[in-house]
Amino acid sequence: LVRLRSRLSRSQNTLGQGLLSLLSREHLDEDTWEEIEDTLLTADVGVAPTQELVERLRTRVKVLGTRTPAELRGLLREELVHLIGTDADRSLHTHSHEERPAVVMVVGVNGTGKTTTTGKLARVLVADGRSVVLGAADTFRAAAADQLQTWGERVGARTVRGPEGGDPASVAFDAVKEGIAEGADTVLVDTAGRLHTKTGLMDELGKVKRVVEKHGPVDEVLLVLDATTGQNGLVQARVFAEVVDITGIVLTKLDGTAKGGIVVAVQRELGVPVKLVGLGEGPDDLAPFEPGAFVDALIG
Ligand code: GDP
Repeated sequence: LVRLRSRLSRSQNTLGQGLLSLLSREHLDEDTWEEIEDTLLTADVGVAPTQELVERLRTRVKVLGTRTPAELRGLLREELVHLIGTDADRSLHTHSHEERPAVVMVVGVNGTGKTTTTGKLARVLVADGRSVVLGAADTFRAAAADQLQTWGERVGARTVRGPEGGDPASVAFDAVKEGIAEGADTVLVDTAGRLHTKTGLMDELGKVKRVVEKHGPVDEVLLVLDATTGQNGLVQARVFAEVVDITGIVLTKLDGTAKGGIVVAVQRELGVPVKLVGLGEGPDDLAPFEPGAFVDALIG
């Protein structure tokens, strides 16, 4: 939590602290409620969730009467956690099945942090005593496979890669095959994400998944979204959700934005929970997403 707070606080204080200071005003008049609304909208919370939150806060503040700072903090914390939701299953399904490794596909637009996230996730799993195989199914950029392999060497996971420009689905298939042969616990498949060729991407991602499924079901399809891209990220999310069934969202670069509200917006948009957050470029900068800890980091 301390780490989460220090990573978020540089950029995100504006949301939590801003709301808290507005709520602490002696007179909560219409203008103040509008400012609260603006603060939430600026942080990319989205229109409907913002209205919902403001409505609930107004009602509860009225009932509360006089408010101590501690009461206000508690109230804001409760309502933000409620908004994010606590009943979703945010666990990652990365445990091997009886004779087969768990398979995780990592998808998203190039530049969002897919490869970095795959590397960080491998590190977490290896540190937890699991054996991990990486599949470099982004065969269109040679640099992508090199980057993944570098991560693999750094964290102690083998990387399966194909020829440059080769068939991504066959690399993914080989990676899972290798994982089975080695008795690995988890296979992480990094995929390509060139959104400008939407049809190509659709065909390709769908094919990668179908081909991998010849070995058995895919356990997780993680969609990586860059938190700094705001509403654009939501548009991307929709496109990917049309192609494959997303099981979890990874929100990256939360260390570089004051728009943490995107957590709320993207979950509403896809009906899929945020499972992990990226808090920097380093190997340890990936954290499980936990609403209470996240809100505590926001409010400080
Ligand atoms: P890909 O094209 O989706 O595979 O993206 P990369 O993994 O190559 O990441 C693109 C850039 O974003 C790299 O410079 C990463 O170091 C950086 N990056 C990835 N995740 C994070 C994060 O959580 N925080 C920050 N600040 N940078 C990140």
